[in-house]
Amino acid sequence: MKKHNFSAGPCILPQEVFKEASQAILDYNDSGLSIIEISHRSKDFVDVMEEARSLALELLGLEGKGYKALFLQGGASTQFLMAAYNLLQSKAGYVNTGSWSEKAIKEAKLFGDVVEVASSKDANFNYIPKGYSIPSDLDYMHYTSNNTIFGTQVKDFPVTDVPLVCDMSSDIFSRQLDFSKFSIIYAGAQKNMGPAGTTLVVVKEDILGKIERQIPSMLDYQVHISKGSMFNTPPVFAVYTSMLTLRWLKKLGGISAIEEQNEKKGKLIYSEVDLNPLFKGFAVKEDRSNMNATFTLLNEDLKETFDTMCKEAGINGVNGHRSVGGYRASMYNAMTIESVAALVDVMSDLERKA
Ligand SMILES: *Cc1c(COP(=O)(O)O)cnc(C)c1O
Repeated sequence: MKKHNFSAGPCILPQEVFKEASQAILDYNDSGLSIIEISHRSKDFVDVMEEARSLALELLGLEGKGYKALFLQGGASTQFLMAAYNLLQSKAGYVNTGSWSEKAIKEAKLFGDVVEVASSKDANFNYIPKGYSIPSDLDYMHYTSNNTIFGTQVKDFPVTDVPLVCDMSSDIFSRQLDFSKFSIIYAGAQKNMGPAGTTLVVVKEDILGKIERQIPSMLDYQVHISKGSMFNTPPVFAVYTSMLTLRWLKKLGGISAIEEQNEKKGKLIYSEVDLNPLFKGFAVKEDRSNMNATFTLLNEDLKETFDTMCKEAGINGVNGHRSVGGYRASMYNAMTIESVAALVDVMSDLERKA
């Protein structure tokens, strides 16, 4: 039986994408060859790369606005340093909203001064800081749009002349934003776009070429842009599968359509968390993420029963991250509302039993 997969990442992808990707492993487009054995310079693969890059820009509403999309390797974690390598001349600002922000800050410090403009560490990152001011002399401001571990999500980004860099690993393509506010957007594929192994980086070209330091080729956005994201062998299967997911999203109606579904899923789980006296939400209400819902069981004695009930209902991957505890239901784009309803049913069954 197919499970309801609430795993935080790698995570659920559309079933039809799994089917198509597995077929392409055996025989790509009736070519008698697998997608993973053909040359990355072949027309078949170059077409895949080009479609993936253009779908990403199209879905984000960034076509013709001076942006380039790249599919790189090294995960979002490499972007922590690569963004700084390419942009940080003297000083950058970071909003610290959790573990991923902290990791990004640590890397950026290797390249220049880092100002922690705001932080929610004082409350174990259960909220998004607001009402801070941004110094005007920064090379860029860095955000983590969705805090996968803590279940918080930035709803409003600042209006500022400082270029914005954003780690959107866990909520890219999930909600409408004015993406043209950002100079760099990056996202590891394995949260909302594809299998692990590639990272989408969307770069506004006019932000590049402004720093003095030498950049190694593999870490230089301009090198990857000039080679059409094919400077070296790209992760062909991860790019192909991401492309299939982006096609799926486009067919569904794009970000506005999926956002509507994501809001419904969020409402469903959070109303249960709020109404069911056995559970308590972790993130403050106004900053709750529609991608990762974090909550705890008030009575730890019920944990074993709840875990068993989840297992029996085919619910997978709801254990919270060790730094938060409790539970985390990750509800990425491909998760159906029926799967969220299955989890909500178990939560209300527990209330009836307890
Ligand atoms: C998972 C995650 C990362 C790390 O991604 P890798 O691809 O494993 O390097 C970074 N930022 C956020 C917000 C994440 O959710």
